[in-house]
Formats: sequence, C-alpha cells, structure tokens
Amino acid sequence: MSLAPQSVVDAVAAVAGPAAPLHAPEIAGNEWAYVKECLDTEWVSTAGKYVDRFEGMLAEFTGAGHAVATVNGTAALHACLLLAGVEAGDEVIVPALSFVATANAVSYIGAHPHFADAEERTLGLDAAKLDAHLKAVSEKSDRGRVNRESGRRIAAVACMHAFGHPVDLDPLLEVCRRYGLPLIEDAAESLGSTYKGRHTGNDGVLSALSFNGNKTVTTGGGGAILTNSHDLADQARHLTTTAKTAHAWEYIHDRVGFNYRMPNINAAMGCAQMEQLPRFLDQKRVLAGRYRDAFAGMGGIRFFEEPAHCRSNYWLNVLLLDEDNAHLRDPILEAANGAGLMSRPAWRPLHRLDMFAHCPRMDLAVTESLYARLINIPSSPRLAGGPAAKNHA
Ligand SMILES: *Cc1c(COP(=O)(O)O)cnc(C)c1O
Repeated sequence: MSLAPQSVVDAVAAVAGPAAPLHAPEIAGNEWAYVKECLDTEWVSTAGKYVDRFEGMLAEFTGAGHAVATVNGTAALHACLLLAGVEAGDEVIVPALSFVATANAVSYIGAHPHFADAEERTLGLDAAKLDAHLKAVSEKSDRGRVNRESGRRIAAVACMHAFGHPVDLDPLLEVCRRYGLPLIEDAAESLGSTYKGRHTGNDGVLSALSFNGNKTVTTGGGGAILTNSHDLADQARHLTTTAKTAHAWEYIHDRVGFNYRMPNINAAMGCAQMEQLPRFLDQKRVLAGRYRDAFAGMGGIRFFEEPAHCRSNYWLNVLLLDEDNAHLRDPILEAANGAGLMSRPAWRPLHRLDMFAHCPRMDLAVTESLYARLINIPSSPRLAGGPAAKNHA
C-alpha cells in the first residue's frame, strides 16, 4: 500500500492542530496554591503532609496497598529491584523495547539485563516466547534459576507497560510462577491503565511509577513504589530514607540506604495533579479516539489501540507502519517535526546501546520490527480541548 508521508502529517495535524509538543504538563488545578503553602510554611523537604497525602492518593487511585514516593521513577525501579532480592552478578529479564531506565536500574546493582522480546499485540513482553527461552537457556539449581550459558542467577523479570498499554499480565505471571521469578512492573508510563480491571502496578511484587515532566501526572521530577505487601512497603520507606532507624535525635543507619525520598514541594504538585487525573484520562481517551478515526481509512499505517481486556491511558499515542512501509518512518518523522508536530520513534532497542551490547538476549525480531515502524505523536490532554494552564494570580 503506497503511503505519502505528508498525508500522515496532515491527519495528525487535523487532530492535534498545526503544532504541538509530544506531551506537555498541564498545570491547571491547585498546583500553585499547594506549592505556595509549602513555601509559606517552610515545609519544603521530605517530611511534610503532602508526601503522605500524595502516597495516599496514589494507593487509593491504583488500588495498591501501599505507595512510597521517590525522587524519580528510576530511583523507584532501583529500589524495587533491590527489595525483590536482585544482587550484583544476577541477571534480570528486561524488555529490549523500553526506556533506558529499566535496564539502567538493573546495572546500578551490578546485575545484568537479559533482554526479552515484545509482542505486537501489546508492545510489551511476550510471555510465550519468554517461557520457551527460559526453558531453553536456564535450569534449576540450589541458587534458584540459573542461565546455563552465563552461569549467572536469573533473579527477576521486569516488565514495562509501553506507552501506557498494559502487558498481557496473566500469562506473564504464570511464567514467573513456573520459573520461581518475582515480577517487577515498570509502570512508569501506565498510571490510569488497567488490565482486566486491575490497575497496572498491582500484579508485580513491587512496581515503579514516574512523575517526570512528560508523564500523565507530573511532580516536576518524581516517582513512586507500589506494593501490596506491608512488609515490603516498610522496607521501601526505610531504604529510600537512608535506612535511618527510628530515634528521637541520634543518626543510626542499619544498612547502606538511599536518599530517594520525594520532597514535599514535589508531592504538593503531585496532589494537585492527582485531583485532575480523571479529567486528564478522559481527555487523552477523547484524543486517542480522534486519532483512531483519522487513521481508520488510511492504508499502510494504523493507530495502535489498547490491547484486549485493557483500558489504556494512551500516554503516548502510537502509529504503526505496515512492514513494507517501514522505510517511511524517518520521512514521516522529518515532515512532522519540521511542521512543529513533535513526533518520535520508539527508543533505540536497549541491546543496541553500547553499554548493553554484550548482555544476554533472546531473539528480538519483534522488537526490531516495532522499532522500525513505530511513531509517537502529540498526546497532551489539552489537545482534546479543556481548561488552559492557570497562571499564578
Ligand atoms: C519515565 C520512565 C521511567 C522513569 O523515569 P524517571 O525520569 O526517572 O522518572 C522508567 N521507565 C520508563 C519505561 C519510563 O518511561
């Protein structure tokens, strides 16, 4: 099917307008008031009521038993992996199609990402392919599951809900059970996305959220750990606050901890953002629907829709070119960005980055194909209409 790059750009422009960023923060609620209160009361750092309130709002919205707010999503992931028992020298199954943070967090521990392929239906980990791979390359030992080729322990599986679309969690959980591996969810992109009615981030032993400036909810920089385990939540809080033991005045730390706690100023912004999250999600759904309609009649390319049994937050809207139109990806990106419609390819697959080139991996044909064909297009909630940003009065 022949496809003109300009017709793709025109269809995006018909929905998003003549120019648009990829995902702009929307500061339209109580952000100014809550942050001002932090400044007025001098509660600017990690102790403060907004941190507790933000964690409560996250737990309530996601249905997770506990939320622990952190300085960013990468720090949350790092802590999740440590708390799941990943140690230096281990391997962790990581999707090759992900933002670099998923693999970086593994490397921070001195462990090794072991790259796994995606399925086109979800853009996330392919459970059946992972099952076959683990069967082929690993064996049970007294240390747990071991990669027969590297001799290293495979300590965990980290999945990622790409662009907000949930991974097929049930078969993945089954694979994790079969091989005795804990699942960590990198849910940085999927706040508001559900799988069979369960909010993402509830099936992993621990999960990480991100509130970076381009995410659905932003705190400037920020993240959170979700868990349904009371014990792991306590450990997460401890590990992210320098592992300081409770004492009225003495500084006593019982392990090497991290200064990963979210400051009150950021949490104040997060509370105001969470108040608006239902509206953001509604607007993003309207926008996705308009893109879907705009591309419904176009051959050679399609708008990526939420997987079956899922409700996606449509964090970043996705266009997928047909295989034989992959060569049009860069001309389309060129034309769209040239016109001021910020568009991006998927992340360069992680196994192709220099620092991860020597990591173990399975066949990654689907990842390569998706990378060659995928385009993210402007996705801010405001593109669906709605309140404009509120300036400081
Ligand atoms: C945003 C993001 C993170 C975390 O990013 P931070 O900027 O550290 O908050 C992690 N993984 C994925 C897939 C992300 O998109």
